[in-house]
Amino acid sequence: MTEFANLIGGNWVGASSGATFENINPSDTGEVLGIFPRSRAEDVDSAVGAARAALAAWKSVPPPERGKILRAAGRIMEAKKEELARVISRENGKTVKGALGDVQSGIDMAYYAAEEGRRWFGKTAHSGLRKRFAMTKRYPVGVVGVITSWNFPMAITCWKTFPALVCGNAVVLKSEENTPETAVHFARIMEEAGLPPGVLNLVHGFGAEAGDALVRHPGVDMISFTGSSATGRIIGANCAARLAKASLELGGKNAVLVMDDADLDLAADGVVCGAFSISGQRCTATSRVIVHEAVYDAFLEKLLSRTSGQRVGPGSDDSSDITPLISERQMNRVLGYVERAKAGGARILCGGERLSGGAYGRGYYVAPTIIENVTPDMEIAREEVFGPVLVLFRAASYEDAIGMLNDSTLALSASLFTRDVNRAFSFFDDAEAGVCYINAPTFGSEPHMPFGGVKQSGLGYREAGWAAIEAFSEVKTLYVDYSARIQNVQFVEEAKLPPALPRGRKIELENSPRLCHGGGRLS
Ligand code: NAD
Repeated sequence: MTEFANLIGGNWVGASSGATFENINPSDTGEVLGIFPRSRAEDVDSAVGAARAALAAWKSVPPPERGKILRAAGRIMEAKKEELARVISRENGKTVKGALGDVQSGIDMAYYAAEEGRRWFGKTAHSGLRKRFAMTKRYPVGVVGVITSWNFPMAITCWKTFPALVCGNAVVLKSEENTPETAVHFARIMEEAGLPPGVLNLVHGFGAEAGDALVRHPGVDMISFTGSSATGRIIGANCAARLAKASLELGGKNAVLVMDDADLDLAADGVVCGAFSISGQRCTATSRVIVHEAVYDAFLEKLLSRTSGQRVGPGSDDSSDITPLISERQMNRVLGYVERAKAGGARILCGGERLSGGAYGRGYYVAPTIIENVTPDMEIAREEVFGPVLVLFRAASYEDAIGMLNDSTLALSASLFTRDVNRAFSFFDDAEAGVCYINAPTFGSEPHMPFGGVKQSGLGYREAGWAAIEAFSEVKTLYVDYSARIQNVQFVEEAKLPPALPRGRKIELENSPRLCHGGGRLS
């Protein structure tokens, strides 16, 4: 059995307590893929210490030079794409084909972030005073703690770490406990690409132990987190308690609206893909479909026929459309939502149960599930399920559908299927969501565009694109006065308004030290 280690200050080491945990294959839960250090506060403390020690030298490396290391990492990832996809497929359960997309997304971010090294722009502005220069310049935030989710173990790690590194931050990455091996390969790639020791540190372990210690550590200046809204609330509060910067990318209850003028075949393809690919374990998975009543029956027929053609199978078989859920806990959670919906009067049109035995063995497989007869106040209509479960609603009009879409505390992504250009653009104004699509599934974010949700789907910043560069840097505002006198911007207006001044008082056109200072009693 392979034993893996933490990476701290350039050394691969076990947890100081010697404790470990097992990494399990979700397609075949009898297979243990590796043993990982179960890190706790003392290991996190060492990793943060190593990051702080490396920070001073790393932040003085010019950003284009930092970008070169990311470009090298992108090239190594390209060369190892297939190998990395196999690691992801084994521990995450998605197909190798699906995992190749996860790796490609990381490669795209490596190249994008590398180029941002030459665009780490500040701004210049005209001063309100004569002979004064005003500008902003970007600096790193410091040590960034990265806490990730397992659903895109490579892409999410890259989407956070590459922008953080190009901005000159040192990083402590807490791997996700269901997908820790991907993080090991990521760290090895960064070593091979030439990242100096200590600039990226990796600790494995559980959220309540290693994750919590990282969030509370006073040496961590910022936490970049992707995970559930429930955990985001805890992390946000712990960051707020010590006024640390926090970027929280959280859950979704994403909806597709199908209007009466939509191409129903396209819409049904988009919904099946959005709801069931990687078993609905996307933050942007389609979990609600709101259909215009005029086309509800026709759309439902197409949806059910496509869903019945979905192949449920292991990640090792590239023809599987729907792969296992990540863990027993997650599977029971998903089935619990379905059971409670049924008990509350919802109608299960297909699926709704675990698939086991035979070809499914001991994997965590749930059949693709479509549910109707759901009221907006039901739990299944409001909470993120994070499984292959879709809930259908009937709307009387576009306005009615928008009302249903926005009646949600989660607001990550939304999509509208229509052929009406006016409605399409109105949707961008009307939909409460961080990412909106027309005639496309609810996922498909690109690395050069900002990504993130509103309401309880996110807090703080956007990831990816220029927004990530802003998130991982601090802006300093800088002035240079070349007037050879002491000027004060607060007195400019006063100096321009002589009539308002008391008669007989001497004024000067330029502010002088005398105007800036007191020197006598005011009574
Ligand atoms: P989770 O919140 O349980 O765990 C996510 C990470 O947080 C893990 O690494 C875990 O170890 C860590 N963690 C848990 N408790 C912690 C604590 N108290 N302090 C510090 N770290 C802690 O999430 P999950 O259920 O494993 O992942 C699925 C969730 O992630 C879904 O809600 C999904 O929507 C969300 N997600 C969001 C995005 C996005 O970009 N918005 C992307 C992917 C996944």
